[in-house]
Amino acid sequence: MAGYTPMILQYLSVKEQAKDAFLFFRLGDFYEMFFEDAIHASRELEITLTGREGGGDRKIPMCGVPYHSAENYISRLVDKGYKVAICEQVEDPTAAKGVVRREIVRIITPGTVMETKALDGKTNNFIAAVVRVGGMLGLAACDLSTGELYVTSFPEQMESLIDEINVYQPSELIGDGSLLDKVQAAAVWSRHLALTPREPMEEDKLAAQYGEEELSRLSGARYRAVSVLTGYLDETQKRSLGHVRTIHSYEPNQYMILDHYTRRNLELTETVRDRNKKGSLLWLLDRTQTSMGARLLRRWIDKPLLSKASVEARLDAVETLYLDLILRDDIRAELQPIYDLERLVGRVAFGNASGRDLNALRSSLRRIPRLTALCGQSGSKTLQAVVEGTDDCADLADLIETVIVDEPPVSIREGGLIRSGYDDYLDQLREASTNGKKWLAELERQEREATGIKSLKIGYNKVFGYYLEVSKANLGMLPEGRYERKQTLANAERFVTPELKEKERLILEAEDKMIDLEYEKFIELRDHLALHLHRLQKAAGVIAELDAYQSLATVSAERRFARPRISEGYDLHIEEGKHPVVEAMMDGAPFIANGTSLLKDEQWMLLITGPNMAGKSTYMRQVALICVMAQIGCFVPAKSAVVPLIDRIFTRIGAADDLIGGQSTFMVEMKDIQTMTEKATSNSLVIIDELGRGTSTGEGMAIAQAVIEYVHHHIGCKALVSTHFHELAHLEESLPSLANARMAVEESGDNVTFLRRLVPGAASTSYGIYCAQLAGLPQSIIGRAYELLDGSESARIAPEPKKLPDGVAEARAIVQLSMFDEPAAATESGSGRRKASPKAEQLADELRKLDLFNLTPMQAMQWLNDMKIKL
Ligand code: ADP
Repeated sequence: MAGYTPMILQYLSVKEQAKDAFLFFRLGDFYEMFFEDAIHASRELEITLTGREGGGDRKIPMCGVPYHSAENYISRLVDKGYKVAICEQVEDPTAAKGVVRREIVRIITPGTVMETKALDGKTNNFIAAVVRVGGMLGLAACDLSTGELYVTSFPEQMESLIDEINVYQPSELIGDGSLLDKVQAAAVWSRHLALTPREPMEEDKLAAQYGEEELSRLSGARYRAVSVLTGYLDETQKRSLGHVRTIHSYEPNQYMILDHYTRRNLELTETVRDRNKKGSLLWLLDRTQTSMGARLLRRWIDKPLLSKASVEARLDAVETLYLDLILRDDIRAELQPIYDLERLVGRVAFGNASGRDLNALRSSLRRIPRLTALCGQSGSKTLQAVVEGTDDCADLADLIETVIVDEPPVSIREGGLIRSGYDDYLDQLREASTNGKKWLAELERQEREATGIKSLKIGYNKVFGYYLEVSKANLGMLPEGRYERKQTLANAERFVTPELKEKERLILEAEDKMIDLEYEKFIELRDHLALHLHRLQKAAGVIAELDAYQSLATVSAERRFARPRISEGYDLHIEEGKHPVVEAMMDGAPFIANGTSLLKDEQWMLLITGPNMAGKSTYMRQVALICVMAQIGCFVPAKSAVVPLIDRIFTRIGAADDLIGGQSTFMVEMKDIQTMTEKATSNSLVIIDELGRGTSTGEGMAIAQAVIEYVHHHIGCKALVSTHFHELAHLEESLPSLANARMAVEESGDNVTFLRRLVPGAASTSYGIYCAQLAGLPQSIIGRAYELLDGSESARIAPEPKKLPDGVAEARAIVQLSMFDEPAAATESGSGRRKASPKAEQLADELRKLDLFNLTPMQAMQWLNDMKIKL
């Protein structure tokens, strides 16, 4: 540190407190960064890197951003996962001795951004804490912008933790270091997250935040999780967080469990292809009018319910709004102009709400009485219960209306905010200032008259204050004496007079005082509102819930969905079900409905075969989506549906997850299946698309069969399995609860038409080559593929060779080839298709029939000998 200037020394000591953040160090109108921070930030933000003398041997790297546009730069850094520490001057520079004192006033991190610009209104921005206490894991998640805080705990198991973290998709994760490492190792997505190890905060500070009573309901891992999370918020935000007071503690098994891949596969809130929600279930169901409603709906989709009573209550509300179009339209119209109350309340609590924010709050609150009345008269018990006793916060809205003008400026420090008539002293000051201005106008008139200079005018600037301006041409007409020269311009001179100086002092003083007083009054109002955060949050909650109901009802009515019958039994019965999103995305072409019956006493496992593109995975997804929709309280795309409460959906679908983080598809599939065997209960729903893909045919088929048998014998849950191994169709005979089904196709000549209808029975071929043809592959490839198929179809059924010493498998493969195929010379040149010789055919047939497992070595030798003689 040799030789650094005092300011740089101060910088270095502050930087010590925020090593993992960019330090925005306030110098005048700029935030400056130095040293490594500067080099790094100049690259990330594409701003110029300069240098500054700081007393060291060489120039210190420096770059900076103007403070008035800092928000933009900060959110760019935070978006990239960085933290930004804001260091301000905390004493009046004129009063300071030496270097002005500076302190970090807030650290902005990906999980704690409050700035509206950086936040998507329709999604929560969660920060989550994960901890371990004894054999239990705890997870707390908070959206600082809205004040929501959730906490839960469960026996230690990484998958459960990952599933639970996934519900929140946090942008930042903190907690016990060893656990963070494990999360990072287990979940690929966590690599993009800011991870920070943190310890719990002091107990009395925690109690001060939530109150003893709220905390008394927590213990063990939940207590620790809340403590770690709150400690970090306190450390980074450095202010009281009045809107984070209510802790929602819940059991994970209150909700349907959906793991990360299932959420993705079913495209619940985003699509597999991109993180855009278009094409997701949320995209279809989101007809909310407010941001709060949109966020709530998303949380509902993330957490389908498991209690019949709660699902029915939601369905009741949806049904009322479904049937009563006028009520629905009225409610939509009332909701439409409502602002994001939750985030406005967050800003009030955080201390960064502006005059405009308060007016938005007021106009939103004004909608509550009519919404309450509409719901009160709706006849729906659920809607009535939602609004019962709703506090419309009219007193707060009235107060805001009395204090704040209709169109306040953006800034709260430049006056023009407070209505006249609200504060006597402020009114007096305003009058003084207005009178002062009138006096100036009068002075200007008098001076013009006295001097005869018609162009004489009174002006104002920040440096000289008020002045009289006379153009050069008229200077001669100005009498000597009273006029004191202040400033010379190219073609005019500016003067002051003693009266002008005197009046100026009064006017400026009044204006300064006015601005200070306005600010004071504004803060008084904001602080008063901050005493009522809880009431405001409740009102916001009511609005969000109504909005979510009307959204589900609007979509259900428009798309003619049916109310599902929720059952506590086992059977799932869907009549004419559809995939809601695929249907909505199809322009014009009709979506073919298919029923589903998974019944305890008949069959509850379907093995679905059929060519590629026939609609297998669409069908399987549609069944899962109907269950999810029913359990969030939405109507479903079907003619009718009896839906049992599903505790968990497992899916293993499709190619989208190929090569995740270096793992092979097959490994991923096997891991998923392992989790399924461990976690699925008879109330789960299992969906596996293309079971056994990704390894050799023989092995794949063997594993597929073993998995199907396991689900059938040991889990007993409803399951839909699709496979391209049509050879597995025989399982129907040995497994009483499994039935074959296939997607019907119509063949005529070389053409195959997909009928998209699910019919009983197994498909005979997989039509893979036909699909390749459809995709437009060159005819030469298609021809060759058919040729190979003819030659290999039989070999495909035979198990692959077991692992043999190097070279042996290869040798056997060659033998097989030479046994089953005629030499190349025998190829029929006309059709291009190869035919096996009758002898080889016969030999192959015999070999196929051979029951190896019931053969003694001696019998095998004998058989080989017989064959040799025949050849
Ligand atoms: P598979 O899983 O058998 O390969 P998909 O389920 O991916 O087939 O379906 C292929 C395409 O067929 C889908 O993208 C969709 O456009 C269409 N499709 C699927 N099911 C239906 C249906 N029931 N009605 C109309 N079109 C459908």
